[in-house]
Amino acid sequence: MFVDSHCHLDFDLFEKDREECIARAHKAGIQTMLTISTHITRFPEILKLTNSSDYLYCTIGVHPHQVRDEPKIDCDQISKFANNPKVIGIGETGLDYFYENSPRKEQKDSFLQHIAASRMTGLPLIVHSRDADEDMEKILEDEMKKKAFPCVLHCFSSSERLARCALSLGVYISISGIVTFKNATELRKIVKNIPLDRLLIETDSPFLAPVPYRGKRNEPSYIIYTAKKVAELKDISINELEKVTTNNFFCLFSKARKPGQP
Ligand SMILES: [Zn+2]
Ligand SMILES: [Zn+2]
Repeated sequence: MFVDSHCHLDFDLFEKDREECIARAHKAGIQTMLTISTHITRFPEILKLTNSSDYLYCTIGVHPHQVRDEPKIDCDQISKFANNPKVIGIGETGLDYFYENSPRKEQKDSFLQHIAASRMTGLPLIVHSRDADEDMEKILEDEMKKKAFPCVLHCFSSSERLARCALSLGVYISISGIVTFKNATELRKIVKNIPLDRLLIETDSPFLAPVPYRGKRNEPSYIIYTAKKVAELKDISINELEKVTTNNFFCLFSKARKPGQP
């Protein structure tokens, strides 16, 4: 039983075959899926989707890309939305200086509100970071010092230095299909050094399909290809990786119920 710890099932690319995708994932041994909020305005839609299955959960938050255009929300409002059995995390939030779709200052302000909401609710924070290593390191260090919060760096594609910093702060690291890409040598090196008890896997679907589907639409059932590559790098069996990453998921996202649990 694998878990897809980060996907976007509400996106339009799933419009035509959303239910089939979910069914294919179940058939491939992926039970629990966490569909991640990017727009506050789309939250009702995501919630409705997660209510359609016992194995779907969601988060609440505004993606750094969307910060500029979405309504501003503060930690109290985020926490209020999170008060629902289906909402098990805060985010995704963070910093994206690669696209810089929203001004950096607005991204930071929003990030800090999400951090505060994570502390308020006790729910883990899902952090997106791209080309923002220096600021990310500083914010994580400063904020953890003030008061720690549970956290994962999702779709990790940053430097070894940021990985080390995150790990030293107790942050989990989630690996996507990028690890299967030919040019991801640096990431594969980093994965080898992530302790097994800090490791998560994800698809980030519909984006970033792993090889052999690179360039196509991604879906949760493809997590197997990422899992195989990560197991190979960690020099453990796929079953062991499955056990470890599933266990880590339910440890971090403790509000989610394991399939089969009452
Ligand atoms: Zn992201
Ligand atoms: Zn995402």
